[in-house]
Amino acid sequence: MSEPTTYAGQRTLDPADWDAFRTLAHRMVDDSIEQLRTLRERPPWTPVPPATQAAISAEPLPHQPQGDAAYDAFLEHVLPYTNGNRHPRFWGWIQGPGTPLGMMADMLAAGMNAHMAGANQAPKLVELKVIEWLAELMGFPPDSSGIMMSGGTMANLIGLAVARHAKAGFDVRAGGMRAGPQLTVYASAEVHSWAQKAVEVLGMGNASLRRVPVDGTFRMDKGALATAVAADRKAGARPMCVIGTAGTVNSAAIDDLPALADFCAQEDLWFHVDGAFGALAALSPALRPLLAGMERADSLAFDLHKWVYLPYEVACVLVKDRAVHESAFAVTPSYLRDEGRGVIAGGLPFSDRGIELTRGFKALKAWLAFKAHGVDAIGAVIEQNVEQAREFGRRVTDIPDMVVAAPVSLNVVCFRLAPPSLSPEAQDALNKEVLLRIQESGIAVISGSQLDGRYVMRVACSNHRSMWGDYETLLVGLSVVRAEVESGVAPRS
Ligand SMILES: *Cc1c(COP(=O)(O)O)cnc(C)c1O
Repeated sequence: MSEPTTYAGQRTLDPADWDAFRTLAHRMVDDSIEQLRTLRERPPWTPVPPATQAAISAEPLPHQPQGDAAYDAFLEHVLPYTNGNRHPRFWGWIQGPGTPLGMMADMLAAGMNAHMAGANQAPKLVELKVIEWLAELMGFPPDSSGIMMSGGTMANLIGLAVARHAKAGFDVRAGGMRAGPQLTVYASAEVHSWAQKAVEVLGMGNASLRRVPVDGTFRMDKGALATAVAADRKAGARPMCVIGTAGTVNSAAIDDLPALADFCAQEDLWFHVDGAFGALAALSPALRPLLAGMERADSLAFDLHKWVYLPYEVACVLVKDRAVHESAFAVTPSYLRDEGRGVIAGGLPFSDRGIELTRGFKALKAWLAFKAHGVDAIGAVIEQNVEQAREFGRRVTDIPDMVVAAPVSLNVVCFRLAPPSLSPEAQDALNKEVLLRIQESGIAVISGSQLDGRYVMRVACSNHRSMWGDYETLLVGLSVVRAEVESGVAPRS
């Protein structure tokens, strides 16, 4: 990297020598592409070595330029030590692997450095177009409102804030929560942790979130929902929103969305759907019927960085009623007034649809991916993930004592070793040890969770790089590692 250029005593951070910068930049692109091309040659996850830990953590604030050495430090100490989510054998939690095109799109977006509150510029049109395309895919009307967000947590939070604005029955914006009765929100007990954070941030408190019990397939119990809403009304609270989940984080269960939509219509409640990853199954015509009823939501949140495989961060919330969406957030200070001409002609729609003013051009990677790959190709990979999950769910039970712990409704398989000779607690310990050794030995990254109070191993297939042979590797690994644990062999390192 070069010294800042000086001209008559003035400085800039643009390179003094553009050709030298171009050479460095080409190296950065080549190294990044090579890293992706060769992912399979390395284990999914390698713990951060002590030397790297020290190199990063012990460095004092750099006051003087290090030039190209800064990039070399990135290559040596940062690039190799991720949690592994790009790797073909990563199925932990529900993370996305990113794509090479998405990587370049983020570079292009950073190069443009567009300020995405709105204004009279092409990037605004791109975001509006992507929202319209996503609305079409999700069965929402073409004039739906929406905004690209950093992730599912934030997209869901926006949805819930709009729900509150629409259904509180008092002016929350002016008077806050003290201006009316206690508001209540309903979600299944399997709802993702975003919901608790959201009700807390919105000032409603964790007690306002009613966690409705689930049935044997981990879907919200509709009878229990009706009972809870009636009891709250009787007690003087004001029910305002039901959150349906299309693909729970634990087992990818899809709530009975048509029934929840009917219930919300009857009870005058806002219907919000958290479709963080599950909603993206709508890109596959074969899978779309599983999501029937989702199109009846008042608002729908989903993550393009999970099951459209785009690099972090990008999510979206759609809201059917644009006027309600914008009236939940719009504030126009004098310095941002739309004069009908000039740079901010057309206003700042995205500033009116959320809480951020300055935002990045997250829509670009979605726009490029849809155009370059075509949505049908992305849908076909999503379908492939579901087929992989179903096949893995069938094959994993070939391992003696292995049981599948929840129906494989989409792309998540929860399974556990349950040797009858062991107590449930000893089974939990066995599963946890096998799981950690699978991660630590570099075989694969899978994650653990609790279902019905018991520890389960979990494979979440939201990875376009995984081929069937990768799952075979895991199946073999599970048998080998389990035998090692049972025979008291120390962990490999
Ligand atoms: C991942 C997930 C979220 C949160 O999304 P982030 O992008 O991690 O903020 C919410 N709901 C469900 C069902 C999820 O799987």
